[in-house]
Amino acid sequence: MEWRIIMGQNTILPEKERNLLLYSNYIHTDEGFNDLIALLKEHPKVKLTDIVTKSDLTNRIINNHHIWLDRSRAEWNYRKINPVVTNKELLRKKWKKCALCGEPTRIEHYIINKHNQREINVGGECIKQFMGKEIGYLSNKILKNPSAAVKYERLVNEYPEIRNILFNDKDFLSRTKLILPTSYCTSYKKIHKKITGQLNNYFNNDLVEVNTMELERNIRIYNNVKESFETYYKKNEGDFAYLSRDIINLVANQQKEIYSELVQTMQNNNGKITKDIASKIKVESFLVAFSEAIPKFYSEDFMIEKCKTGLIDITIYDHQLPLNFTISSSIFIDFFGGFIDRDNKKRKLKHFCKINYSSLQTRDTKTNEIIKNKAIDLLNSQGYTSNYELSYRDIYGISPEKDPQFDKKKYRLENLLDNLSIFRVSSDQKLHVWTSSQLLKSGKELVLNNDEVTKREVLKKLLKDTNLFDQKDLYTYINNELELKK
Ligand SMILES: [Zn+2]
Repeated sequence: MEWRIIMGQNTILPEKERNLLLYSNYIHTDEGFNDLIALLKEHPKVKLTDIVTKSDLTNRIINNHHIWLDRSRAEWNYRKINPVVTNKELLRKKWKKCALCGEPTRIEHYIINKHNQREINVGGECIKQFMGKEIGYLSNKILKNPSAAVKYERLVNEYPEIRNILFNDKDFLSRTKLILPTSYCTSYKKIHKKITGQLNNYFNNDLVEVNTMELERNIRIYNNVKESFETYYKKNEGDFAYLSRDIINLVANQQKEIYSELVQTMQNNNGKITKDIASKIKVESFLVAFSEAIPKFYSEDFMIEKCKTGLIDITIYDHQLPLNFTISSSIFIDFFGGFIDRDNKKRKLKHFCKINYSSLQTRDTKTNEIIKNKAIDLLNSQGYTSNYELSYRDIYGISPEKDPQFDKKKYRLENLLDNLSIFRVSSDQKLHVWTSSQLLKSGKELVLNNDEVTKREVLKKLLKDTNLFDQKDLYTYINNELELKK
C-alpha cells in the first residue's frame, strides 16, 4: 500500500498528460521547451526519479505543468465533420486506442489542433474528465493567438489568481454557498468583466506591457468583493430563508422548469426566498427544512409524518386511531408559508386539514375503511340500512355452482361491489347506491368537522348525490358495468 502511494507521488506527468504536451503545437515552436520534449520522448510517463538530476526542469514541470496543460487543451477544437464516431465493432480489441491514455474506446472524439491541423482521436473519458469543458474556451475567449498564450503564461506566473478569475470563476455566481442579492452579483460581474477586459486587451493586442498598477488594483477589488460574500454567508447561513446551495442544486436537477425563476426571485429579494416561489419547490430536503422552520403548529391529534417529493404525509388521530393522509406540498406551503414573508399569523395543522379536506388523499386501505364507515354510520343513524343482498343468479343468469367461470366472474363482481354501497330505507322502495369515492369524501369531512352543522350538510349532499335504482334497474346497471370492465 505504502509502496503504491510512493509510486503515485513519483509520477509527475502521467501518460495522458505527457501525450497531450507532445501533441501540442506550442512546445515545438518555442525553443524553451526543447529539454522538455527530449525528456517526454524518452519516457512514456515522467517520474520524479527520471529527472532527479535535472533540478531546473523538475521545478519547471512541477510549477508550470498545469498552465502548460491548459495551454495545450486550448489548442484543440472539435473536428467540424463527424466529430464523434461510434465504432461498430463489439470486440474491445478491435477498437481504436485513445491518443492520450491509450485505452481502447468505442466512442471516438476527433479533435483538431488549430495551429497545425493535426487530428487525434480521444476517448469519451479523456474528453470529459481530462480535456474538460475548456476545449475551445481558452482559445475562443482569451487566447486568440500564440503570442497571447505566451503572455498569459508569463502573467500567470506573476499573478496566479488570474487563472482563477479567468477560468475557475467563470461560473462563480452559480456556485456560491448562498444565492447572492442582485447588488452583490452586479458588483462581482462588474469587476470580473473589468479584469477580463483588461487581460483580453493585453493578451490579444499589441500591448507589450500590462498596466500592473491597474491590474493589481482590480485584483484587490475582486478579492474584496469575494470577501464581502464570506461575511454575507456567515451572517445568513443556516437561516431557512436563504436556501443552501445543496437545495438549489437539487432544484436545478429535479425541477429545471423553475430553477432560473427561483434564482432570480431570490436575487431580487435580497437573497431570500419568497412564499410564492417556495410553494413551487418539490424537493424533499427543502420540504423537510420548511416543516422544521414553520413556527410550532402541531396539536396532539395532527402530525406531520414525512416529506416526500412534492408531497407531505399527515397523520390525524381519530380517538387514537391513526388516519393517514397525503397532501400536495404546494397547498401546504401556500397555507403555512406566511412566515417567509414575515406574516406572523399563527396557523394550525388542524385548521389546515379542515379547510383542505377535499385535497387530502388517504394513504392506505385501513384509513379508507375508517373514513367510509363515518359516512355509513351517519346514513345508518338516519334509518338507511345496508343489508341488501345481490343474487349471483340474477346477475349472471346462471347459479354459481353450475358456472364453470365462477371464480373469474366472482372476482370481477367483488371488485365492482367493493366500490358500491347499497342501502335501503323504510320510507321508500328504491335502492340507494353510493360509490366509495362519494362516501370517502363525506367521511373525510365528518372526521375533520365533527359537529351537528357539518353532519346535516354532509347528509344533505349525500342524499342529493345518491343513485336511485329499482331492483331491476340495479341489476341492469351492474350488468352494464361488468360488460364495461371486461
Ligand atoms: Zn483516453
